[in-house]
Amino acid sequence: MKVISSLKRRTLLKGTAAATAVSVVGCASQVATSPRPRVVVVGGGWGGLGAVRTLAAGGKVDITLIEPNDGFMSCPLSVLYIAGYAPASNFQRSYGAVDALGVRPVKDRVVDIDRAGRTVKTATQSIPYDFLVLATGLEYMEEALPGLAAAREQFPVGFRAFEQSAVQRQVAAFLEQGGNFIISVPKPPYRCPPAPYERACLIAQRMKEKATKGKIIVVDANKHPMPPPMARPMETAMREMYGSQIEYITEADPKSIDAGRKVLSTSKGDIAFNHANIIPPMRAPGLIRKAGLGERFATIELPTFQSKADKNVFIIGDSQGSPLPKSGHIAFGTGQQVGAQILATVDGKYREADLGDEVTLPAAICWGKVSTSLAIMINVNASVAVGDPPKIRYEVDQTANATSSKGAIDWGNSIWHAMLG
Ligand SMILES: Cc1cc2nc3c(=O)[nH]c(=O)nc-3n(C[C@H](O)[C@H](O)[C@H](O)COP(=O)(O)OP(=O)(O)OC[C@H]3O[C@@H](n4cnc5c(N)ncnc54)[C@H](O)[C@@H]3O)c2cc1C
Repeated sequence: MKVISSLKRRTLLKGTAAATAVSVVGCASQVATSPRPRVVVVGGGWGGLGAVRTLAAGGKVDITLIEPNDGFMSCPLSVLYIAGYAPASNFQRSYGAVDALGVRPVKDRVVDIDRAGRTVKTATQSIPYDFLVLATGLEYMEEALPGLAAAREQFPVGFRAFEQSAVQRQVAAFLEQGGNFIISVPKPPYRCPPAPYERACLIAQRMKEKATKGKIIVVDANKHPMPPPMARPMETAMREMYGSQIEYITEADPKSIDAGRKVLSTSKGDIAFNHANIIPPMRAPGLIRKAGLGERFATIELPTFQSKADKNVFIIGDSQGSPLPKSGHIAFGTGQQVGAQILATVDGKYREADLGDEVTLPAAICWGKVSTSLAIMINVNASVAVGDPPKIRYEVDQTANATSSKGAIDWGNSIWHAMLG
Protein backbone atom coordinates (compact mmCIF):
# COMPACT_ATOMS: atom_id res chain seq x y z
CA MET A 1 0.00 0.00 0.00
CA LYS A 2 1.39 3.41 -0.92
CA VAL A 3 1.27 6.57 1.12
CA ILE A 4 0.60 9.50 -1.16
CA SER A 5 2.48 12.01 0.94
CA SER A 6 5.62 10.02 0.27
CA LEU A 7 6.32 11.75 -2.98
CA LYS A 8 9.28 9.61 -3.91
CA ARG A 9 6.53 7.12 -4.59
CA ARG A 10 4.12 9.63 -6.13
CA THR A 11 0.67 8.79 -7.32
CA LEU A 12 -1.80 9.51 -10.02
CA LEU A 13 -5.10 7.99 -10.84
CA LYS A 14 -5.39 6.36 -14.22
CA GLY A 15 -8.25 8.58 -15.28
CA THR A 16 -6.40 11.77 -14.46
CA ALA A 17 -2.94 11.02 -15.73
CA ALA A 18 -3.43 12.39 -19.22
CA ALA A 19 -5.35 15.41 -18.06
CA THR A 20 -2.76 16.20 -15.45
CA ALA A 21 0.08 15.94 -17.91
CA VAL A 22 -1.76 18.49 -20.06
CA SER A 23 -2.34 20.76 -17.10
CA VAL A 24 1.30 20.54 -16.11
CA VAL A 25 2.28 21.57 -19.65
CA GLY A 26 -0.30 24.34 -19.42
CA CYS A 27 1.17 25.47 -16.15
CA ALA A 28 4.69 25.35 -17.47
CA SER A 29 3.85 27.90 -20.17
CA GLN A 30 2.35 30.19 -17.54
CA VAL A 31 5.22 29.55 -15.19
CA ALA A 32 7.62 30.76 -17.89
CA THR A 33 6.05 34.22 -17.77
CA SER A 34 6.02 34.32 -13.98
CA PRO A 35 9.14 34.16 -11.82
CA ARG A 36 7.66 31.33 -9.75
CA PRO A 37 4.44 29.34 -9.98
CA ARG A 38 1.58 31.07 -8.19
CA VAL A 39 -0.50 29.08 -5.73
CA VAL A 40 -3.63 30.71 -4.35
CA VAL A 41 -5.09 29.11 -1.23
CA VAL A 42 -8.65 30.18 -0.38
CA GLY A 43 -9.51 29.67 3.30
CA GLY A 44 -7.20 29.89 6.30
CA GLY A 45 -8.81 27.12 8.33
CA TRP A 46 -7.61 23.56 8.89
CA GLY A 47 -7.21 22.54 5.24
CA GLY A 48 -5.81 25.83 3.97
CA LEU A 49 -3.19 26.00 6.72
CA GLY A 50 -2.02 22.44 5.96
CA ALA A 51 -1.47 23.45 2.33
CA VAL A 52 0.18 26.77 3.12
CA ARG A 53 2.66 25.31 5.64
CA THR A 54 3.78 22.59 3.24
CA LEU A 55 3.98 24.88 0.22
CA ALA A 56 5.98 27.45 2.18
CA ALA A 57 8.42 24.80 3.41
CA GLY A 58 9.12 23.86 -0.25
CA GLY A 59 10.27 27.40 -1.04
CA LYS A 60 9.49 27.07 -4.75
CA VAL A 61 6.15 28.79 -5.25
CA ASP A 62 4.56 32.16 -4.54
CA ILE A 63 1.70 31.65 -2.10
CA THR A 64 -1.31 33.86 -1.55
CA LEU A 65 -3.68 33.03 1.33
CA ILE A 66 -7.12 34.61 1.04
CA GLU A 67 -9.08 34.59 4.30
CA PRO A 68 -11.56 37.15 5.65
CA ASN A 69 -11.01 36.43 9.37
CA ASP A 70 -8.30 38.22 11.38
CA GLY A 71 -7.18 34.97 12.98
CA PHE A 72 -7.92 31.27 13.42
CA MET A 73 -10.38 29.70 15.84
CA SER A 74 -10.67 25.96 16.32
CA CYS A 75 -14.06 24.27 16.36
CA PRO A 76 -12.52 21.09 17.82
CA LEU A 77 -12.47 21.31 21.63
CA SER A 78 -14.17 24.72 21.65
CA VAL A 79 -17.08 23.01 23.42
CA LEU A 80 -15.02 23.69 26.55
CA TYR A 81 -15.50 27.40 25.89
CA ILE A 82 -19.16 27.05 24.93
CA ALA A 83 -19.96 25.20 28.17
CA GLY A 84 -17.98 27.66 30.28
CA TYR A 85 -14.91 25.59 31.14
CA ALA A 86 -12.22 27.53 29.24
CA PRO A 87 -11.71 30.98 27.73
CA ALA A 88 -12.19 31.45 23.98
CA SER A 89 -8.54 32.46 23.68
CA ASN A 90 -7.47 28.85 24.35
CA PHE A 91 -8.83 27.99 20.90
CA GLN A 92 -7.66 31.04 18.96
CA ARG A 93 -4.39 31.75 17.19
CA SER A 94 -3.08 34.67 15.15
CA TYR A 95 -1.89 34.24 11.56
CA GLY A 96 1.49 35.73 12.52
CA ALA A 97 3.37 32.45 12.01
CA VAL A 98 2.03 32.14 8.45
CA ASP A 99 2.78 35.76 7.62
CA ALA A 100 6.37 35.12 8.79
CA LEU A 101 6.72 32.40 6.13
CA GLY A 102 6.48 34.96 3.36
CA VAL A 103 2.93 34.07 2.40
CA ARG A 104 1.03 36.97 0.87
CA PRO A 105 -2.07 37.49 3.03
CA VAL A 106 -5.25 38.87 1.48
CA LYS A 107 -7.87 39.65 4.11
CA ASP A 108 -10.91 39.29 1.94
CA ARG A 109 -13.54 36.88 0.65
CA VAL A 110 -13.41 35.28 -2.79
CA VAL A 111 -16.67 35.96 -4.60
CA ASP A 112 -15.95 34.38 -7.97
CA ILE A 113 -13.57 32.01 -9.72
CA ASP A 114 -12.74 32.50 -13.40
CA ARG A 115 -11.40 29.05 -14.20
CA ALA A 116 -10.79 29.81 -17.86
CA GLY A 117 -8.75 32.89 -16.95
CA ARG A 118 -7.20 31.22 -13.88
CA THR A 119 -8.15 34.09 -11.64
CA VAL A 120 -10.04 34.42 -8.36
CA LYS A 121 -11.97 37.58 -7.63
CA THR A 122 -12.67 39.38 -4.38
CA ALA A 123 -14.85 42.47 -4.20
CA THR A 124 -11.81 44.64 -4.91
CA GLN A 125 -9.21 42.65 -6.83
CA SER A 126 -8.48 39.80 -9.25
CA ILE A 127 -5.72 37.42 -8.24
CA PRO A 128 -4.17 35.10 -10.85
CA TYR A 129 -3.11 31.56 -10.07
CA ASP A 130 -1.34 28.61 -11.63
CA PHE A 131 -2.70 26.27 -8.97
CA LEU A 132 -5.80 26.93 -6.87
CA VAL A 133 -6.47 25.26 -3.51
CA LEU A 134 -10.01 25.72 -2.22
CA ALA A 135 -10.37 25.09 1.52
CA THR A 136 -13.54 27.04 2.13
CA GLY A 137 -15.26 24.80 4.67
CA LEU A 138 -19.05 24.76 4.81
CA GLU A 139 -22.23 26.76 4.74
CA TYR A 140 -25.53 25.93 6.42
CA MET A 141 -28.55 24.81 4.38
CA GLU A 142 -30.94 27.09 6.24
CA GLU A 143 -33.66 26.61 3.64
CA ALA A 144 -33.98 22.98 4.82
CA LEU A 145 -35.84 24.25 7.88
CA PRO A 146 -38.56 26.84 7.14
CA GLY A 147 -38.41 29.63 9.71
CA LEU A 148 -34.69 29.30 10.39
CA ALA A 149 -33.20 31.88 8.02
CA ALA A 150 -35.52 34.66 9.19
CA ALA A 151 -34.44 34.07 12.80
CA ARG A 152 -30.79 33.16 12.30
CA GLU A 153 -29.60 35.66 14.95
CA GLN A 154 -31.74 33.83 17.49
CA PHE A 155 -30.34 30.43 16.53
CA PRO A 156 -26.56 30.56 16.24
CA VAL A 157 -25.18 27.22 15.02
CA GLY A 158 -21.60 27.47 16.20
CA PHE A 159 -20.14 24.96 13.75
CA ARG A 160 -17.84 27.52 12.08
CA ALA A 161 -14.97 29.52 13.55
CA PHE A 162 -15.91 32.48 15.77
CA GLU A 163 -19.61 31.61 15.86
CA GLN A 164 -19.00 29.90 19.20
CA SER A 165 -19.39 33.16 21.17
CA ALA A 166 -23.07 33.50 20.27
CA VAL A 167 -23.74 29.89 21.30
CA GLN A 168 -21.75 30.41 24.52
CA ARG A 169 -24.00 33.35 25.43
CA GLN A 170 -27.08 31.28 24.67
CA VAL A 171 -25.81 28.41 26.84
CA ALA A 172 -24.95 30.79 29.69
CA ALA A 173 -28.53 32.14 29.57
CA PHE A 174 -29.96 28.60 29.62
CA LEU A 175 -27.76 27.60 32.57
CA GLU A 176 -29.14 30.58 34.54
CA GLN A 177 -32.77 30.41 33.42
CA GLY A 178 -33.35 26.69 32.83
CA GLY A 179 -36.19 25.36 30.65
CA ASN A 180 -35.90 23.30 27.48
CA PHE A 181 -32.72 23.56 25.41
CA ILE A 182 -33.06 21.80 22.06
CA ILE A 183 -29.98 20.60 20.20
CA SER A 184 -30.99 19.24 16.79
CA VAL A 185 -28.81 16.84 14.79
CA PRO A 186 -29.09 16.61 10.98
CA LYS A 187 -28.54 13.56 8.84
CA PRO A 188 -24.94 13.20 7.60
CA PRO A 189 -22.89 14.43 5.91
CA TYR A 190 -22.23 17.23 8.36
CA ARG A 191 -19.14 18.56 10.11
CA CYS A 192 -17.76 16.36 12.90
CA PRO A 193 -20.61 13.89 13.52
CA PRO A 194 -19.97 13.42 17.30
CA ALA A 195 -19.97 17.19 17.94
CA PRO A 196 -23.71 17.74 18.73
CA TYR A 197 -23.73 14.96 21.36
CA GLU A 198 -20.46 16.24 22.80
CA ARG A 199 -22.05 19.67 23.13
CA ALA A 200 -25.09 18.19 24.88
CA CYS A 201 -22.89 16.26 27.35
CA LEU A 202 -20.68 19.19 28.31
CA ILE A 203 -23.66 21.51 28.83
CA ALA A 204 -25.32 18.74 30.87
CA GLN A 205 -22.25 18.49 33.09
CA ARG A 206 -22.51 22.23 33.66
CA MET A 207 -26.23 21.90 34.45
CA LYS A 208 -25.41 19.41 37.19
CA GLU A 209 -22.80 21.71 38.69
CA LYS A 210 -25.08 24.74 38.59
CA ALA A 211 -28.25 22.82 39.51
CA THR A 212 -30.01 24.21 36.44
CA LYS A 213 -33.69 23.29 36.35
CA GLY A 214 -34.51 22.07 32.87
CA LYS A 215 -33.37 19.63 30.25
CA ILE A 216 -31.46 19.35 27.04
CA ILE A 217 -33.55 17.70 24.33
CA VAL A 218 -31.37 16.17 21.63
CA VAL A 219 -33.61 15.96 18.56
CA ASP A 220 -31.79 13.55 16.27
CA ALA A 221 -32.80 12.96 12.64
CA ASN A 222 -30.80 9.72 12.91
CA LYS A 223 -31.63 6.44 14.60
CA HIS A 224 -28.47 6.47 16.77
CA PRO A 225 -25.70 8.94 17.57
CA MET A 226 -23.40 9.57 14.63
CA PRO A 227 -21.03 8.28 13.39
CA PRO A 228 -22.43 4.74 13.67
CA PRO A 229 -19.24 3.19 15.14
CA MET A 230 -19.47 5.66 18.02
CA ALA A 231 -23.19 5.17 18.64
CA ARG A 232 -22.99 2.77 21.56
CA PRO A 233 -20.42 4.49 23.75
CA MET A 234 -21.96 7.89 23.07
CA GLU A 235 -25.52 6.79 23.76
CA THR A 236 -24.33 5.02 26.93
CA ALA A 237 -22.55 8.16 28.14
CA MET A 238 -25.61 10.35 27.52
CA ARG A 239 -27.90 7.88 29.31
CA GLU A 240 -25.68 6.85 32.22
CA MET A 241 -23.99 10.16 32.99
CA TYR A 242 -26.79 12.58 32.15
CA GLY A 243 -30.04 10.60 32.38
CA SER A 244 -31.70 13.44 34.34
CA GLN A 245 -30.36 16.21 32.11
CA ILE A 246 -30.59 14.85 28.54
CA GLU A 247 -33.68 13.56 26.77
CA TYR A 248 -32.68 11.81 23.55
CA ILE A 249 -35.29 11.68 20.77
CA THR A 250 -34.28 9.68 17.70
CA GLU A 251 -35.50 9.66 14.08
CA ALA A 252 -37.10 13.08 14.57
CA ASP A 253 -36.66 15.10 11.41
CA PRO A 254 -37.07 18.85 11.98
CA LYS A 255 -39.78 20.21 9.62
CA SER A 256 -40.03 23.89 10.58
CA ILE A 257 -39.27 26.26 13.41
CA ASP A 258 -41.50 28.99 14.86
CA ALA A 259 -39.12 31.45 16.48
CA GLY A 260 -41.97 33.54 17.95
CA ARG A 261 -43.86 30.67 19.61
CA LYS A 262 -40.60 28.82 20.28
CA VAL A 263 -41.75 25.54 18.80
CA LEU A 264 -39.77 23.10 16.67
CA SER A 265 -42.04 20.95 14.49
CA THR A 266 -40.58 17.52 13.77
CA SER A 267 -41.66 14.27 12.15
CA LYS A 268 -42.35 13.11 15.72
CA GLY A 269 -44.48 16.12 16.68
CA ASP A 270 -44.01 19.62 18.08
CA ILE A 271 -41.41 20.35 20.76
CA ALA A 272 -41.50 23.57 22.78
CA PHE A 273 -38.22 25.17 23.75
CA ASN A 274 -36.75 28.12 25.61
CA HIS A 275 -33.42 27.97 23.78
CA ALA A 276 -32.48 26.06 20.66
CA ASN A 277 -29.19 25.17 18.98
CA ILE A 278 -30.42 24.08 15.58
CA ILE A 279 -27.71 22.35 13.57
CA PRO A 280 -28.91 22.39 9.95
CA PRO A 281 -27.72 20.19 7.09
CA MET A 282 -24.52 21.50 5.52
CA ARG A 283 -22.94 21.91 2.08
CA ALA A 284 -19.90 23.49 0.46
CA PRO A 285 -20.12 27.29 0.09
CA GLY A 286 -21.96 28.65 -2.97
CA LEU A 287 -18.64 29.65 -4.54
CA ILE A 288 -18.02 25.98 -5.35
CA ARG A 289 -21.34 25.58 -7.18
CA LYS A 290 -21.00 28.92 -8.95
CA ALA A 291 -17.62 27.79 -10.32
CA GLY A 292 -19.12 24.53 -11.62
CA LEU A 293 -17.06 22.40 -9.23
CA GLY A 294 -19.91 20.36 -7.76
CA GLU A 295 -23.41 20.46 -6.36
CA ARG A 296 -23.81 19.94 -2.61
CA PHE A 297 -20.07 19.29 -2.23
CA ALA A 298 -17.18 19.59 -4.69
CA THR A 299 -16.63 16.59 -6.92
CA ILE A 300 -13.03 15.44 -6.68
CA GLU A 301 -10.71 12.64 -7.71
CA LEU A 302 -9.16 10.49 -5.01
CA PRO A 303 -6.40 10.28 -3.97
CA THR A 304 -5.35 13.59 -5.55
CA PHE A 305 -8.22 15.86 -4.36
CA GLN A 306 -8.21 17.45 -7.82
CA SER A 307 -11.50 18.77 -9.10
CA LYS A 308 -13.08 16.43 -11.64
CA ALA A 309 -13.88 19.55 -13.66
CA ASP A 310 -10.48 21.24 -13.51
CA LYS A 311 -7.14 19.61 -12.77
CA ASN A 312 -5.53 22.85 -11.62
CA VAL A 313 -8.07 23.20 -8.83
CA PHE A 314 -7.70 21.18 -5.62
CA ILE A 315 -10.59 21.06 -3.16
CA ILE A 316 -9.77 19.96 0.36
CA GLY A 317 -11.34 19.83 3.81
CA ASP A 318 -15.07 19.88 4.37
CA SER A 319 -15.89 21.44 0.97
CA GLN A 320 -14.95 18.25 -0.87
CA GLY A 321 -17.50 15.54 -1.39
CA SER A 322 -15.62 12.25 -0.96
CA PRO A 323 -16.99 9.82 1.64
CA LEU A 324 -14.17 10.75 4.05
CA PRO A 325 -15.43 12.18 7.35
CA LYS A 326 -15.58 15.95 7.71
CA SER A 327 -12.69 16.31 10.15
CA GLY A 328 -10.10 18.98 10.83
CA HIS A 329 -7.40 16.34 11.13
CA ILE A 330 -8.19 15.06 7.64
CA ALA A 331 -8.49 18.60 6.30
CA PHE A 332 -5.04 19.52 7.62
CA GLY A 333 -3.49 16.27 6.35
CA THR A 334 -5.12 16.72 2.96
CA GLY A 335 -3.78 20.26 2.78
CA GLN A 336 -0.28 18.91 3.45
CA GLN A 337 -0.73 16.20 0.81
CA VAL A 338 -1.97 18.61 -1.84
CA GLY A 339 0.79 21.09 -1.02
CA ALA A 340 3.34 18.30 -1.57
CA GLN A 341 1.64 17.28 -4.85
CA ILE A 342 1.86 20.84 -6.17
CA LEU A 343 5.54 21.06 -5.25
CA ALA A 344 6.16 17.72 -6.97
CA THR A 345 4.33 18.98 -10.07
CA VAL A 346 6.49 22.08 -10.14
CA ASP A 347 9.54 19.80 -9.91
CA GLY A 348 8.26 17.73 -12.85
CA LYS A 349 7.95 14.61 -10.67
CA TYR A 350 4.21 14.44 -10.63
CA ARG A 351 3.93 12.35 -13.77
CA GLU A 352 5.95 9.47 -12.38
CA ALA A 353 2.68 7.67 -12.04
CA ASP A 354 2.52 4.25 -10.48
CA LEU A 355 -0.96 3.28 -11.50
CA GLY A 356 -3.14 0.69 -9.84
CA ASP A 357 -1.77 1.04 -6.32
CA GLU A 358 -3.84 1.25 -3.24
CA VAL A 359 -3.04 4.61 -1.70
CA THR A 360 -3.35 5.59 1.95
CA LEU A 361 -5.43 8.73 2.42
CA PRO A 362 -4.99 11.27 5.23
CA ALA A 363 -6.31 9.89 8.52
CA ALA A 364 -8.86 11.37 10.89
CA ILE A 365 -8.99 11.49 14.63
CA CYS A 366 -12.09 12.85 16.29
CA TRP A 367 -12.92 13.30 19.93
CA GLY A 368 -16.28 13.10 21.55
CA LYS A 369 -15.72 14.66 24.93
CA VAL A 370 -18.51 13.62 27.28
CA SER A 371 -17.21 15.51 30.32
CA THR A 372 -14.22 17.64 31.20
CA SER A 373 -12.35 14.44 32.18
CA LEU A 374 -13.74 11.74 29.84
CA ALA A 375 -13.83 11.36 26.06
CA ILE A 376 -14.45 8.81 23.33
CA MET A 377 -11.85 8.70 20.58
CA ILE A 378 -12.48 7.60 17.01
CA ASN A 379 -9.69 6.99 14.53
CA VAL A 380 -10.54 6.80 10.86
CA ASN A 381 -8.08 5.32 8.36
CA ALA A 382 -8.83 5.15 4.66
CA SER A 383 -7.24 3.97 1.46
CA VAL A 384 -8.30 4.04 -2.15
CA ALA A 385 -7.51 2.02 -5.25
CA VAL A 386 -7.89 3.41 -8.74
CA GLY A 387 -11.52 3.70 -9.74
CA ASP A 388 -12.89 2.28 -6.48
CA PRO A 389 -14.63 4.02 -3.63
CA PRO A 390 -12.33 4.52 -0.61
CA LYS A 391 -12.12 1.78 2.01
CA ILE A 392 -12.73 3.37 5.39
CA ARG A 393 -11.82 1.68 8.69
CA TYR A 394 -12.80 2.89 12.16
CA GLU A 395 -11.24 2.27 15.57
CA VAL A 396 -13.37 3.50 18.45
CA ASP A 397 -13.09 3.52 22.24
CA GLN A 398 -15.72 1.22 23.65
CA THR A 399 -16.27 3.49 26.65
CA ALA A 400 -15.54 7.10 27.47
CA ASN A 401 -12.22 7.29 29.30
CA ALA A 402 -9.71 9.67 30.87
CA THR A 403 -6.83 8.73 28.55
CA SER A 404 -8.76 9.92 25.49
CA SER A 405 -9.81 13.08 27.30
CA LYS A 406 -6.16 13.97 27.92
CA GLY A 407 -5.32 12.77 24.40
CA ALA A 408 -7.83 15.24 22.96
CA ILE A 409 -6.18 18.22 24.65
CA ASP A 410 -2.68 17.05 23.71
CA TRP A 411 -3.84 16.51 20.12
CA GLY A 412 -5.34 20.01 19.95
CA ASN A 413 -2.22 21.70 21.30
CA SER A 414 0.03 19.80 18.95
CA ILE A 415 -1.98 20.31 15.76
CA TRP A 416 -2.61 24.01 16.45
CA HIS A 417 1.15 24.36 16.96
CA ALA A 418 1.78 22.63 13.61
CA MET A 419 -0.64 25.06 11.97
CA LEU A 420 0.25 28.35 13.56
CA GLY A 421 3.11 27.87 16.02
C1 LIG B 1 -17.92 21.37 17.49
C2 LIG B 1 -16.94 20.76 16.55
C3 LIG B 1 -16.01 19.83 17.00
C4 LIG B 1 -15.09 19.27 16.11
N1 LIG B 1 -14.18 18.34 16.57
C5 LIG B 1 -13.27 17.79 15.73
C6 LIG B 1 -12.30 16.85 16.18
O1 LIG B 1 -12.27 16.42 17.34
N2 LIG B 1 -11.39 16.39 15.29
C7 LIG B 1 -11.38 16.80 14.00
O2 LIG B 1 -10.52 16.36 13.23
N3 LIG B 1 -12.31 17.68 13.51
C8 LIG B 1 -13.25 18.17 14.35
N4 LIG B 1 -14.18 19.08 13.87
C9 LIG B 1 -14.27 19.34 12.42
C10 LIG B 1 -13.34 20.45 11.93
O3 LIG B 1 -13.56 21.65 12.60
C11 LIG B 1 -13.60 20.66 10.43
O4 LIG B 1 -13.60 19.43 9.78
C12 LIG B 1 -12.52 21.57 9.84
O5 LIG B 1 -12.68 22.87 10.35
C13 LIG B 1 -12.59 21.57 8.31
O6 LIG B 1 -11.55 22.37 7.81
P1 LIG B 1 -11.75 23.25 6.49
O7 LIG B 1 -10.43 23.83 6.18
O8 LIG B 1 -12.46 22.45 5.47
O9 LIG B 1 -12.78 24.37 6.92
P2 LIG B 1 -12.60 25.54 7.99
O10 LIG B 1 -11.66 25.15 9.07
O11 LIG B 1 -13.99 25.94 8.38
O12 LIG B 1 -11.94 26.72 7.19
C14 LIG B 1 -12.59 27.34 6.12
C15 LIG B 1 -12.05 28.74 6.01
O13 LIG B 1 -12.41 29.26 4.74
C16 LIG B 1 -12.76 30.61 4.88
N5 LIG B 1 -13.63 30.94 3.74
C17 LIG B 1 -14.84 30.45 3.47
N6 LIG B 1 -15.32 30.97 2.33
C18 LIG B 1 -14.36 31.80 1.87
C19 LIG B 1 -14.25 32.64 0.72
N7 LIG B 1 -15.24 32.74 -0.18
N8 LIG B 1 -13.13 33.40 0.56
C20 LIG B 1 -12.10 33.31 1.46
N9 LIG B 1 -12.15 32.52 2.57
C21 LIG B 1 -13.28 31.79 2.76
C22 LIG B 1 -13.44 30.68 6.23
O14 LIG B 1 -13.41 32.00 6.77
C23 LIG B 1 -12.61 29.68 7.05
O15 LIG B 1 -11.57 30.30 7.76
C24 LIG B 1 -15.10 19.66 14.75
C25 LIG B 1 -16.05 20.59 14.30
C26 LIG B 1 -16.96 21.13 15.18
C27 LIG B 1 -17.97 22.12 14.67
